[in-house]
Amino acid sequence: MDIRPIQQRKYSFEFFPPKTEEGIERLNATTLQLGQLSPHFFSVTYGAGGSTRDRTLETVLTIKNMGHAAAPHLSCIGTTRASVRETLANYSQQGIRHMVALRGDLPSGMVAAGEFRYASDLVAFIREELGEDISIEVAAYPEYHPQCGSAQQDLLHFKRKIEAGANSAITQYFYNADAYFRFIDDCTAMGIYVPIVPGIMPINNYFQLARFSEICGAEIPRWIRLRLEGYRDDIASIRAFGLDIVTDLCDRLLQHGAPGLHFYTLNQAGPSSTIWQRLGIQA
Ligand code: FAD
Repeated sequence: MDIRPIQQRKYSFEFFPPKTEEGIERLNATTLQLGQLSPHFFSVTYGAGGSTRDRTLETVLTIKNMGHAAAPHLSCIGTTRASVRETLANYSQQGIRHMVALRGDLPSGMVAAGEFRYASDLVAFIREELGEDISIEVAAYPEYHPQCGSAQQDLLHFKRKIEAGANSAITQYFYNADAYFRFIDDCTAMGIYVPIVPGIMPINNYFQLARFSEICGAEIPRWIRLRLEGYRDDIASIRAFGLDIVTDLCDRLLQHGAPGLHFYTLNQAGPSSTIWQRLGIQA
């Protein structure tokens, strides 16, 4: 693997847009706490079909007003070119020059795919609309996307997003560092050289994590699963073990040249900031 100079590494935190006043207040406190670590940026997720469009933008603007760089996510499934154009114009007007472009998933029961099929279509459209004036991140899947026909096809589809104009990628979370190293080697062999930053999911609530991992195709290795299951509702032990496992994973990724870390915070500061401090990250 290509070892990236430490000063070029990018560290970021992901939030989802809160729905309630209480959630907004809690997220402001989380932003204050994580902001002290000086991450390169915060990103804010986007609901399928534009369901969080306004809240995503509001959250991004709040983070910017607190003095930090922020990138909205934008998903394209179930949307039209006209509505994405409007969202892009809005982002542009607000001085947003960095976003995460995704296909998204339709909620169950919704069938209309809209005018975009894949994230690569959205990346191409953003480039058409905004030219080079924007930095575009896309999603990558070291353990492959759950709907992909084959690993090789999934890699080719990832390559399309980069060829369509993406500048860098953030991965789905994983707990097996070798899957990431192999993915990077495969990408390099295919001529993909953009930074691919590992997505990191702290372990806080085992049953929620197991359910989510099932849906998004992230494997929880058997030895980790059995240990977590064994703790049953002993939350303190789950968290302590989770912090050890995830810190070791991050350490190994950075030791082997990962170009940064992107934390899926679930709007909580505690686990991500503890891992960050244990790693001694100086962003
Ligand atoms: P794509 O890259 O389009 O891939 C989706 C599937 O289609 C893959 O199986 C791929 O192999 C296949 N495919 C791609 N191109 C082709 C082609 N030309 N022909 C045939 N098959 C093809 N979801 C949200 O709703 N909102 C968010 O904010 C959000 N943020 C995310 C952030 C990150 C870092 C990650 C990793 C995921 C995020 N997701 C989000 C989840 C994501 O939307 C889902 O994983 C979704 O199922 C795939 O999105 P994608 O952008 O990777 O899709």
